[in-house]
Order: sequence, then structure tokens, then C-alpha cells
Amino acid sequence: MSEGAAFQFRDPGRARELAALLRRYAPPEPVRIVHVCGTHEMAIAQYGLRSLLPPGVEVLEGPGCPVCVTPTADLDRAVKLALGGAILCTFGDMTRVPGTRLTLAEARARGADVRIVLSAADAVEVARAHPGRTVVFFAVGFETTAPGTAAVLLDHPPANFFVLSAHKLIPPALAALLAAPSRRIAGFLAPGHVSTVIGARAYRAIAAEHRVPIVVAGFEPLDILYAVLLVLRQLREGRAEVENAYPRAVTEAGNVRAQELLREAFEPAPARWRGIGEIPGSGLRVRDELAAHDAARALPVEVEEGEEKPPGCRCAEVLLAQAVPSDCPLFRTRCTPLAPVGPCMVGAEGACHVWYRYGGRPAL
Ligand code: SF4
Repeated sequence: MSEGAAFQFRDPGRARELAALLRRYAPPEPVRIVHVCGTHEMAIAQYGLRSLLPPGVEVLEGPGCPVCVTPTADLDRAVKLALGGAILCTFGDMTRVPGTRLTLAEARARGADVRIVLSAADAVEVARAHPGRTVVFFAVGFETTAPGTAAVLLDHPPANFFVLSAHKLIPPALAALLAAPSRRIAGFLAPGHVSTVIGARAYRAIAAEHRVPIVVAGFEPLDILYAVLLVLRQLREGRAEVENAYPRAVTEAGNVRAQELLREAFEPAPARWRGIGEIPGSGLRVRDELAAHDAARALPVEVEEGEEKPPGCRCAEVLLAQAVPSDCPLFRTRCTPLAPVGPCMVGAEGACHVWYRYGGRPAL
């Protein structure tokens, strides 16, 4: 394959060429490659990419859906703030994730003021429009959305604006998956959009320490097939390196200004990931200088350690890439997007939601 050849996103000939190369580089033993990105899972399922993988090569979604990994305690805190009179602003999917007793949508049905926004800046506008009300932005997402939250925190928001930070960082999650005793991960596809912010260099220490190939992947079907091929090629050649298969968007250093915003507004902190547990350094805590806008400190509420796992739900194993949605007996029976049992069915990027939408067939 000539890597310098003109890249066409939907070139059938190139897809066939990549499929043939995947078969040539497939190792004799089964391998599991994990990605941590709902957008990757959607592309894989929508375009039937698993049907092009050689036997024994699995590509599974890990904890790549920020809605799915938000812990119950954070949801319960948001519900309590909303029921207590705050205007609670968050992204749409978050309103449907089950907390211990209520979702935010159910809290709204009981009279709470829960509003769907598209960005942290929209929540600031709500705060400016309602100076007499407490406005809380329930902030979820990885390194892609966190700089937007950081930017509004640093831009002198009104005194009635607060951030409830459930932001999470991807590299510590990769390291935690690799450190798990049941690790069966041969390589990672790193998420393209997160990598535009943190850069390919953010994964180098993990690849070296855990001896695992990590390939930054874009979102077109051919991007993903090519990234899987690079992982298989590294395995064949005994290498464990970071390769950037998405150079049209991702650089080695990433978006340095966005990284500065994150450092100025937040500091890394331990964070719970639903279904996985606490991962050191994987959360973003609002810095002391901005504590007046930190809902965790300025608006303390007591919540119990919530039930993370609804009975029968296998989300925890799905998030750890130890199971696929169709392994769950509730999948497409009791658990559907209209009546989700677990968080992986709620978020549009959750593996169960994606598999439901595209048929739920393992070959997808
Ligand atoms: S199908 Fe529903 S119940 Fe089963 S693992 Fe997925 S979210 Fe949980």
C-alpha cells in the first residue's frame, strides 16, 4: 500500500485493499483492539466494518461515552441541586441517564428547572438572563468539551454561575484498562477528536510503560480500517508505539492553547467512572482560584453512594470492553433507547445505543 497516495474517504478499491492487508497482518492468535470513542463505534457499526475484520480480530468500544461513565453520585448531586431550586443546565443525553432514584428529566417533570444547552457558554447566557437564580452547568465530556467549560470559567462569569464538573480525561482511563487484572487488550485506537486537543504525544508514556500499540484514528471508515491495520502491523513486528493515522487533524503537540485553558481552570483529580470505579488523575477539579464558581464547593449537597449497576445490566463489562451489548440478556428486550435500563443505552455514543440503532448484530 502506498501510504502517500491520495486519500479518498469512500474509495471502495482502497477499502478492499485495506481488508486484504488486514487479513495478511492478522495474527494467528485472537486479539482484542479497544477504542474509546462513541463516534468510532457509530462508524464501525454504520459501515459494517467488523464484517471486514479477519477472524480473531475484535474491535470493541471501551469507556468512550462520557454520558455512560458519569457516576450515579454526580447525577444524584445534579438532581438534588435542580430540585433545590437551581436552574440546572446540561447536554440533552444527560437528562435521561438513571440516577439512584430519578433522572434529570424526571426531576423536571416534578417541577425542577432543567434546561438543555449546547455549550457551557449557553449556560452562562442563562445565568446572565436570570441574575436572581442559581445556575449550575453540569459539565460532562472528555478533553474535547472541557476546554469550552474552562474558557467560560476563566472569562469572569456572573456570580450566580457554577460548574458541576464531571469532566474526564482519556489517557488515565487507557492506563486503568491496561492495569486491570483481566486485561486482554492488544492495542488501542485513540480517539481522533480528543487527540486534536491533547496531541499524539499524550499517549507515548502509556504505550511505552504497558508495551501496547496506540494508533490515533480518524472517523471515516477507511481511517478506522487503516488504524486497525497499523495496530496489527505493530503486533506483527513486535512494536508498541504511538502512531498517528489522523495527521490531517491531529499533531504531535495538539492544541496547546486548549491545553493551557484546561490547566488554568482545572487540576487533575481522582474521579469515579460508572462501572469502572475510581481512576486516579482522571477527573478535572475546578482550581481553588475559581472555587466561587465550583458547585462542588460553593453549593455542597449530600448524596449517598448511588447504585451504579441496575440489576441485570452488563454496562460495567461493556465499558471495560469485556462484553458486547448483545451479551446482555436485557439488550433489545427490556432495555431499549426509549426505555433504557443502563447508561450504555442512553447516550447516543453508548455501545448499547449504537448496536440497537444499527441492528445489534455482532458482525456489525
Ligand atoms: S443493554 Fe441495557 S441493561 Fe444491557 S448492558 Fe446495555 S445498557 Fe445495560
